[in-house]
Amino acid sequence: MLRPRTAEDTARLVREAAARASAGDTPHAPLHPVSTGRNWGLGSASPVHDGTALLDLSALDRIREIDTDRGYAVVEPGVTQGALAERLADSPRVLNLTGASQHTSIIGNMLERGVGLRRGRAEDLAGLELVLADGTTARTGWWPDPAQGTVVQPHGRGPSLNHLFTQSSLAVVTAAVVRLLPRPETVRVLPMTFPESALDRAVDLLREWTAQELVPATTKIYDPLAARVYGVHDRYLAHLCLTGAPDLVELRALLLHRRATATGSPFSPAPGSAADRYVHRAYTGLPDPDDTLFLRKTGHCAHCLDAARGLLMFLPLVPFRGQAVRRAAEMVRSSLQGRTAPPGITMNVLDADTVDHVVTFGFPPEDPAAVADAHRTLDRLHTAFAAEGLHPYRPDVDHPLAPHGPLHRRLAEALDPDGVFARGRF
Ligand SMILES: Cc1cc2nc3c(=O)[nH]c(=O)nc-3n(C[C@H](O)[C@H](O)[C@H](O)COP(=O)(O)OP(=O)(O)OC[C@H]3O[C@@H](n4cnc5c(N)ncnc54)[C@H](O)[C@@H]3O)c2cc1C
Repeated sequence: MLRPRTAEDTARLVREAAARASAGDTPHAPLHPVSTGRNWGLGSASPVHDGTALLDLSALDRIREIDTDRGYAVVEPGVTQGALAERLADSPRVLNLTGASQHTSIIGNMLERGVGLRRGRAEDLAGLELVLADGTTARTGWWPDPAQGTVVQPHGRGPSLNHLFTQSSLAVVTAAVVRLLPRPETVRVLPMTFPESALDRAVDLLREWTAQELVPATTKIYDPLAARVYGVHDRYLAHLCLTGAPDLVELRALLLHRRATATGSPFSPAPGSAADRYVHRAYTGLPDPDDTLFLRKTGHCAHCLDAARGLLMFLPLVPFRGQAVRRAAEMVRSSLQGRTAPPGITMNVLDADTVDHVVTFGFPPEDPAAVADAHRTLDRLHTAFAAEGLHPYRPDVDHPLAPHGPLHRRLAEALDPDGVFARGRF
């Protein structure tokens, strides 16, 4: 394990690895970079193959700059979402938090193209500072210019390179420009429940409301197992988040209430406890030093989860259609192997056409039979969903992506011909 403290240290370590790799006579350990390594359910900090050197960047933890006027922060890999949210607490800007722990890395999650509560994390990325495989440094996208107050423009000018380095193993990221959202005047999360028997109809209605902009594309839907975290039993729960000017939020909430309680609607408004102040704080981008929601979801703190509990995740993209969501739930049920307990499913609406599914199942790590059952279940999920053309948007260490096409290969050969970086899941 290598643990640099600065971007310069990191470049030196990469140069040393590059020298070993190009010498070619002795086997070298390719570098596997992680930011905080809390990629739970997909392998955490583990590499895909043995024999790699873990490049742990968590000690690069400086917030280099915050500009709440133009709406960006420059952060290093070890900066956690809790740390930046804390710094922004009284400012006119907010960070797009994810539902993971406050102790996860902003850069790690953006490089995964993770899902935030307000939008996909890929949309938060404006610029990257990189160490390439030969140890040289480079920048992509947009970076602040001290001499000019230019507008944040993530694609930069000319060919847009940021996303060559997300879900990729072609460089080490030592800093990034993260876009910050304007702080909304009001945030209101409406909890609504519906029975399993109305799944198709409820999902189709939510889709219609999203397509017609009655609600933004940020709704989360919890199946009856996942909904227990919010005190809802035996029903699906949806969190509909409204943000913006207070009168607009009020009007939209009224409209939604009217539609949800109309004759024939599958929805019932749920009590406020089903979207309590911690849920509101998360959507508002406010820090929670106690990691309350994460503790409720996992039963463990961020520092103990890996040792305490086996956890696997399967993250397929599913059409935002009632029938497709029902079919996905059936496939999850029929994929269970041995004693694997039924998983909770959280669905994140990404747009009017797509809802990503987070299928999470735990197992006791000390019981080899339970471990084997859980991994067989994960294999079955991959096979069953792939047969219907539904692929995970992020792979896990046991199911890395199949080899890429010729253009990807040419880029990889040009950028890292000696295999300084471990090829990993991507
Ligand atoms: C209860 C629970 C809720 C969750 N909710 C969410 C959620 O709402 N949204 C979501 O997206 N995820 C969620 N997750 C999954 C996961 O915990 C997060 O995605 C987490 O942010 C990833 O871990 P990390 O930030 O430590 O990134 P890391 O593990 O450090 O990095 C992830 C990957 O990115 C690459 N990488 C990281 N840093 C670098 C670097 N500096 N240079 C080059 N490559 C790098 C590596 O491939 C690495 O494996 C949840 C997990 C749990 C258990």
